[in-house]
Amino acid sequence: MRVMDSRSQEVLAQVAEIGQSDLRWKDGRAFSLAYYAGPEVQEVADRAYAMYGSTNGLNADAFPSLKKFQAEVVSTVNRWVHGDDISAGFMTSGGTESILLAVKAARERGRKEFGITQPNVVLPTSAHAAFEKACYYFGLESRRVVVRSDWRADVEAMRQIVDENTVLVVGSAPQYPQGVIDPIVDIAALARERNINCHVDACMGGVTLTFLEQLGEDIPLWDFRVDGVTSISVDLHKYGYTSKGASVILHRNRQLRSYQTFTTDNWLGGFYGSSGVLGTKSGGPMAAAWAVMNYLGDEGYLRLTESARATTRQLADAIQTIDGLQLRAIPDSTLLSFGAQLGEDGVTPLFDVYAVADGLAAKGWYVDKQGPPDSLHCTVNAVHHQVIDEFIVDLGHNVAKVRDAGTTGSMGSYGTIE
Ligand SMILES: *Cc1c(COP(=O)(O)O)cnc(C)c1O
Repeated sequence: MRVMDSRSQEVLAQVAEIGQSDLRWKDGRAFSLAYYAGPEVQEVADRAYAMYGSTNGLNADAFPSLKKFQAEVVSTVNRWVHGDDISAGFMTSGGTESILLAVKAARERGRKEFGITQPNVVLPTSAHAAFEKACYYFGLESRRVVVRSDWRADVEAMRQIVDENTVLVVGSAPQYPQGVIDPIVDIAALARERNINCHVDACMGGVTLTFLEQLGEDIPLWDFRVDGVTSISVDLHKYGYTSKGASVILHRNRQLRSYQTFTTDNWLGGFYGSSGVLGTKSGGPMAAAWAVMNYLGDEGYLRLTESARATTRQLADAIQTIDGLQLRAIPDSTLLSFGAQLGEDGVTPLFDVYAVADGLAAKGWYVDKQGPPDSLHCTVNAVHHQVIDEFIVDLGHNVAKVRDAGTTGSMGSYGTIE
């Protein structure tokens, strides 16, 4: 590498300085948003990213490197989710783009194969906000169906609301809010009966569930082994531990995939084809994903999954012993959520759990506030084994403090708009 001149050094020192007050995710303080598998993995990702950050995946024919990275990354994920030679997909910039494309493909199939002009999507209330965004962007009606008391999709209720304009049903493995896996076999059977698309949102669980099964856990089927599943999304910038900007969308076959892509020649620039939402698209995330996946291999992911899962169990057990807390569900993978127990009226929580999050934030911890119902949410990853004892102690202290003082907090927002 070149020796840096003093001006470059100065600017880069500023860049580092500006991040001083960011979340300390490499220290395990973030139970959301960022994932960390240690300095070696991080360096592999960062260096690969830097090498390809300015290349352009818009035209992978001009960058055979990117074509290779994408083909091999998609093929590995396809193997993980038990796809075959005819299943096919693309890398995308993230879970949201994968979901946008799954919804767009379902709309397009409905239009072309069945002449549906007023399409709707039937999905549980637990399915990710990105489906709402997709329906809003692409002009579909979102039909949300209340989940069962165990937070899993109520497939019978979904069946009641599916009609001749339904182009897609959705299940998650696991869903984000409570970390439980929907009954994918039943949701896919519903799709099969109607000959419509069934998307499995495995943005969070795609990597983890694959390796939990290999570790001997009893995981209900959720992937292409289930008849009727037509597409699956798996994020790599979460439990793939690679740089942000990497997810995979897989379709059961090339025909289904064809509804995702876009082509036009209706401008003065010639034939323009695009697999995803973006035009110009950095090769950085593709190179980083390829590098991290090759560096870790299945053995690496097994080890990281085992660690994150053990830490999740430890946290779930601890929450069940902290007086006043209620675990929303026994976690099916590495996400969990909890809230305050209800008081004697059976309606009012004993205390404001959002205030607990504020108390934790004062000690540098970041957990999601979510609802309804008012809950805190932790996404546990491989970095957390080293801090979980400390977190559990702080959590217990803060619950006691908030209960004593009757402190209140507020929900805030998952994302920002300004
Ligand atoms: C993170 C997530 C998404 C959205 O993915 P982004 O990478 O944030 O765009 C969708 N579904 C689930 C279950 C997720 O956890």
